[in-house]
Amino acid sequence: MKQPLFNLLPPLTVAAILAFWAFAPTHWVDTWWTITAVGLVVLAFVQLLECVHERHEGWRISQREFFTDSFYVVLSITAISWLVDALANSPMEKAKEALGISTPWLTELPFVVQAALVVLLFEFGQYWMHRLMHHNAWFWSTHAPHHHLTQLNAMKGYVGNPIELFLISLGVVAFLDFDKAPMLAGFSILTVIPIYAHANLRADPPRWFSFFFTTIRYHSLHHTVLSFEDTRCNYGNCVILFDRLFGTFRDGESVVVGQDERKRLSIQEQFLFPFRPWLERIKAN
Ligand SMILES: [Zn+2]
Ligand SMILES: [Zn+2]
Repeated sequence: MKQPLFNLLPPLTVAAILAFWAFAPTHWVDTWWTITAVGLVVLAFVQLLECVHERHEGWRISQREFFTDSFYVVLSITAISWLVDALANSPMEKAKEALGISTPWLTELPFVVQAALVVLLFEFGQYWMHRLMHHNAWFWSTHAPHHHLTQLNAMKGYVGNPIELFLISLGVVAFLDFDKAPMLAGFSILTVIPIYAHANLRADPPRWFSFFFTTIRYHSLHHTVLSFEDTRCNYGNCVILFDRLFGTFRDGESVVVGQDERKRLSIQEQFLFPFRPWLERIKAN
């Protein structure tokens, strides 16, 4: 009985999130930190579940991993989200106004359709961003620290070089007029599915769910230790459907994860990783 229940947790969480935002009082929807709180509650919940039904003993979280991961969660919800707002979303909103872009018809669509459009739009862009990171040397240098992870846990989706964390937060949703509650529901789904897709949790959602959404099974394969070439699959952080459509889907999972001889990087090494060629040149001189 226990396993089928765990397998249903990701779809049940998505349903709970849709219900939460559909029925949330207006002042909750208008309070900027509600969406952060929703993400943190789900994160804490999945983190607790990892303790009672882990996927692999080798991924069991240590104190060092816990503090590194926590650092990145705090970084993401503070500095990174502020930078994304200041350098991307606010200028986009201003450009939208200046160019007279208006899509009021979007608000006529049902709640769930609006939320789904936010997820699909954002993920379509991020599918190509992630694919670019695996095909261009400079973009890879920002993403490689995430692939140096030697184990997967609920918070690991937040861990990476800050340039990458900025790049993976970019989208064009700011150009469109969605209702606020379904838009926030969409962004909450974009947060919680990657939490489950990185979690050391024995939860394998049913086929109807994993046909559309990324699961730990597919994402662990993306983190495989095998070779760099073998990581070039399953790019969808949240929506695996784009991999199925664009020919990069691979079925399977990986227990041993990590690139470059599985060298675990410190926070300092993760921050400096894209600048290594320059730093080495300076050192040589
Ligand atoms: Zn990747
Ligand atoms: Zn990952």
